[in-house]
Amino acid sequence: MSRFIEGIHRTQFTLFPERIEDYITEDNPVKVIDAFVDALDLAELGFSSVHPRATGRPAYHPALMLKLYVYGYLNKIQSSRRLERESNRNLELMWLLNRLAPDFKTIADFRKDNGIGIKSCCRQFVMLCKQLNLFSDSLIAIDGSRFSAVNNRDRNFTQAKVKRRIEAIDKSIDRYLSQLESLDRQDRMIPQTKTRHIHKQLAALKQQMAEVKAIEEALELTPDKQISLTDPDARAMSTNARSSGNVGYNVQTAVDTQHHLIVAHDVSMAMGDRRMLTKMSVKAQEATGIDELEVIADRGYFAMEEIKSTVDVGITPYVPKTVTSSNRKMGLYDRRDFIYVEVDDEYKCPAGERLPRQTKTTQGNMLMYRYWSKNCGSCSLKPNCTIGKERRVTRWEHGKVIEIHERRMEENPTMMQLRKQTVEHPFGTIKSWMGMTHFKTKRLKNVATEMSLHVLAYNITRMINIMGVKPLIRAIEA
Ligand code: SF4
Repeated sequence: MSRFIEGIHRTQFTLFPERIEDYITEDNPVKVIDAFVDALDLAELGFSSVHPRATGRPAYHPALMLKLYVYGYLNKIQSSRRLERESNRNLELMWLLNRLAPDFKTIADFRKDNGIGIKSCCRQFVMLCKQLNLFSDSLIAIDGSRFSAVNNRDRNFTQAKVKRRIEAIDKSIDRYLSQLESLDRQDRMIPQTKTRHIHKQLAALKQQMAEVKAIEEALELTPDKQISLTDPDARAMSTNARSSGNVGYNVQTAVDTQHHLIVAHDVSMAMGDRRMLTKMSVKAQEATGIDELEVIADRGYFAMEEIKSTVDVGITPYVPKTVTSSNRKMGLYDRRDFIYVEVDDEYKCPAGERLPRQTKTTQGNMLMYRYWSKNCGSCSLKPNCTIGKERRVTRWEHGKVIEIHERRMEENPTMMQLRKQTVEHPFGTIKSWMGMTHFKTKRLKNVATEMSLHVLAYNITRMINIMGVKPLIRAIEA
């Protein structure tokens, strides 16, 4: 007799329960998906073909396709081919889909054709969380991450990259030409295969050069001087001219600090986060319904105009200021050593001198005032202050907004720690579900749909963890 745990042999007759229902326990998350999708008004949310056509082959109901996708994204199965395979062998999916198994093309087309509906469905789940009062005490943390696109780095071109490629091809052509010259100078017989190989390489390089030159011309006509060949909307997400970094999309999320739910998200082709603060804050405010919303973001979001426009819509931002001046590194006083005296519209410098407003200038759309004193030349602190003729201080016309913001940051030093604890969780989870790979679809519109499915799956998982399956289903059905 074996000393191992024995199973039941596959040829053994058994009396299995006759209903698939009997295999799916009451606390199975698949029941949340079923209840949530059944509670949606799919026509109102923008799903196509909710009403069957009078003629032709009957289609799958959009609710069934949506359940399949939500299940897939909840279980790290995002590819349409894998979803087709799982529908045929996965007991939970057989239960969820009433044993239907759409083919991969139908599955893929549903995601492609129902972007609006899927995004609305994601918003609908956030509305449910709001109705359950989950955001009432929340602060919102905003963060962005770069997600890879289908586009390989080698198939993305910027002007700097094309220039480097042309230089590299030129160098290779020169090397082969000099090899040919040196072979010509030799007296001995050169094997024909060798010269044939060099000519072949030269022809290939010339062909490559023609292709790169064509891309160089096309780049001139693009607004952002960038071309991606596989997914035209994917962008190199690095500001470094020497490398294209990650080629993909900029994904923004607004996450509530209390339950770590994603209340709003956005996918864009923007390379940086500096223009995202107001946009994401407003989205978060609309989603949570909190009038006096407070948002936290890292220093990558700091832009004076963005701070002002966020404050203007009634939202309080917490964003550390980016220190761009090199004065402190050079051992000189920096901007913080100069105190603005509002009643006189002057600055007070470390020597106690007053710096009156002297001129105004513009930086982009921003009106800036410049202040300096005429006494700097005779000041004993000048070596610690400036290497120029006098120290000049620049102030934005709405500088007061920034000063209040800076004070708020000083009074709330724990905000950045709270941000870090909040936003890293959702991105880490979603990227791990994606398998640290790229989006499955191409083009911004489709990638945004995919991200909505990820966010919906993430939020459903969080809610199951917070409430449990049965109470969540009761809340959905209420
Ligand atoms: S150099 Fe000018 S601005 Fe600087 S401390 Fe002296 S007086 Fe003030």
